[in-house]
Amino acid sequence: MRIVVPAGGIGGARFLRGLKAALGTDASTGPDQATDHEITVIGNTGDDITLFGLRICPDLDTVMYTLGGGINEEQGWGRTDETFTVKEELAAYGMKPTWFGLGDRDTATHIVRAQMIAAGFPLSAITEALCDRWKPGVRLLPMTDDQVETHVVVEDEQGRRAIHFQEWWIKHRAALPAAEIIGMGADTAKPAPGVLRAIADADVILLPPSNPVVSVGSILGVPGIREALVDKTVVGVSPIIGGAPVRGMADACLTAIGVETSARAVAEHLGSDLLDGWLVDDADAGTEVDGIEVRSRPLYMNDAETTEALARAALDLALELRGDEVR
Ligand code: GDP
Ligand code: CA
Repeated sequence: MRIVVPAGGIGGARFLRGLKAALGTDASTGPDQATDHEITVIGNTGDDITLFGLRICPDLDTVMYTLGGGINEEQGWGRTDETFTVKEELAAYGMKPTWFGLGDRDTATHIVRAQMIAAGFPLSAITEALCDRWKPGVRLLPMTDDQVETHVVVEDEQGRRAIHFQEWWIKHRAALPAAEIIGMGADTAKPAPGVLRAIADADVILLPPSNPVVSVGSILGVPGIREALVDKTVVGVSPIIGGAPVRGMADACLTAIGVETSARAVAEHLGSDLLDGWLVDDADAGTEVDGIEVRSRPLYMNDAETTEALARAALDLALELRGDEVR
C-alpha cells in the first residue's frame, strides 16, 4: 500500500511513528525489513529560516530525528543528549537572535545542509542525503525546493509589520495578535520533485494532527499540491480537542485567519472537497460536517499504543471510504 502524509513537525512526526508501527514498518522489525508498504511524507518547509548563515528546516528535521531515533522525546524537537556550547559562544559574540535554540549536535546537521546548499544541491537532495544517516523508514520530501517562508503581520507599539513566523512563535510565544499569516514565495513555488508523482500513485492520503494553518496550510499553499490531493481519498486527524490545541498555540494561528478553534471549524476550513474523512476526539463526539464522514476516537498520542491505534483508525477509515481492498 502507498500512503502519502503531508506533515508538520511534532504532531506529524508522532503520528508517522504510529503509522509505521501500524503497518509493521517500525524500526523494531528491522530497518531493512522488506514490506509492501511505502510511506511518503510531504514535509512543511514554511517554517524554514536562515540564521547565522545556516538554513534551518525545523519540520523536516523533527520528522527525520523522530523517525530515526534521534529526537529529544520530552521536547519533541531537537536532538537527544543535546548541549548548547555553540549557542553560548555565539551569544558571547553578540550574535542575534538569542531566542533560537540550535544545539551542538543539531549544528552538525546544519553544517552538512549549508555545505550542500553552497555546492548547489536542492533541498530535496539535501534531505535525502541527511536521511541516509537517519533512515527514517519513510521517503521524506520537502513540499518544495523553492524558498517559501511564513510571515506574520503583527501590530504593536512599533507599528504594523511582518515578522518571520519563528520570531512570532518562539520569541513572542504567538502572544502578539496576528492580523495576517502570509506564505512568502508560495504563489510561485513548485512542488518538489516526486511530490505530485507520490500523490498520484498513493492509495490513501492521511493528514496527521499537524497545525492546520502553518503546517498543513503551508503545504496546501504550494500551487498544484491541493489540486492533486482533492482527487484522492483523504482522511485527517484533528489537532484540536475540546476547543483547544493539544500542544502549542495553533489557536492563535486559527484566530489570525478567522477560523474558530474547534475540530468542526478546522474540517470545514480544510474543505469537503479535500477531506473525505475526519477523526475527532471522543470529547468532540457528535461533531457533524457537511460532506465529510466524521468519527470519534481517542486522539491523544500519549504513548506508542495510543499513537499506533490512532494511525490505524485513520488508515481504516481511509480504506473504508476508498471502498476497495488495497491491503
Ligand atoms: P509543529 O510543526 O512542531 O508545530 O508540529 P505540527 O504542525 O505537526 O503539529 C502541531 C499540532 O499537533 C498542534 O496543533 C497540536 O494541537 C497537535 N498535536 C500535538 N500532539 C497531539 C496529540 O497527541 N493528539 C492530537 N490530536 N493532536 C496533537
Ligand atoms: Ca512547524
